[in-house]
Amino acid sequence: MEYGEDYKYIPVTSINSGIGQEIEKDIYGFTIQVVNIYFVGDPQKNEDWFLIDTGMPKSSNIIIEEAEKRYGPNTRPKAIILTHGHFDHVGACIDLVEHWKVPVYAHELELPFLSGEQSYPEPDTTVEGGLVAKISSIFPNEPINLGKHVYSLPKDGTVPGLSDWRWIHTPGHSPGHISLFREKDRTLIAGDAFITVRQDSLYKVLMQKEEINGPPRYLTTDWNQAWESVKILENIKPTVALTGHGSPVSGDFLAKGLSRLVREFDSVAIPDYGKYLK
Ligand SMILES: [Zn+2]
Ligand SMILES: [Zn+2]
Repeated sequence: MEYGEDYKYIPVTSINSGIGQEIEKDIYGFTIQVVNIYFVGDPQKNEDWFLIDTGMPKSSNIIIEEAEKRYGPNTRPKAIILTHGHFDHVGACIDLVEHWKVPVYAHELELPFLSGEQSYPEPDTTVEGGLVAKISSIFPNEPINLGKHVYSLPKDGTVPGLSDWRWIHTPGHSPGHISLFREKDRTLIAGDAFITVRQDSLYKVLMQKEEINGPPRYLTTDWNQAWESVKILENIKPTVALTGHGSPVSGDFLAKGLSRLVREFDSVAIPDYGKYLK
């Protein structure tokens, strides 16, 4: 296994960095600099647990520490599930697989970016947006190679080991982007299909100012697909949404924000200019 050659620590942060939050008894969110990871599994019930996404580059020690705080010494998840393969979601993935010896699951269309075959397009530093977009050229876009440790999610929408959850294909931000949905309490883990902070603005990222927004602009390459994906997610009427960037949102704020995003995606989410606009 190896990371891409452009893999490195990225010096961006937010006021939530290093802070964890139990969102439900069996869901714990933890922020690494500017990105969230989620631990799914109730520590009180001693059940299997799963890690959703793996944070920023060079963050494996803090993830392992957080896992052991929640689930006990030498704990390890049953599997790692990736919403997609961008550097801020696979940052610690190889170190974690080496440490825990667990499988990684992702959508089959994301596998080329996880097996060293294909780089993501370069981040768009020219896109309409704030300072984070301007500095996005420092972000790694080369694929990591998880070798034989990465598996395709089952085509029937099930998630191995997580019987209450289904994965939903939500492409646009990346080709094999998925969201995870649990119908019984309508909990949605949305990855970067939509997010709850304006990710291209350095100030809003730093302060984590809450707003329901489209996917991060500098890395989104198919805006029509991204819009369709947000429609799918609005349509399932989640009551809680946990996103790759920004704080958890729920209830009316989520419902209204999502329906506005669907209606006004072209003006709110899609940038006025940028190289990935058709
Ligand atoms: Zn992303
Ligand atoms: Zn992201």
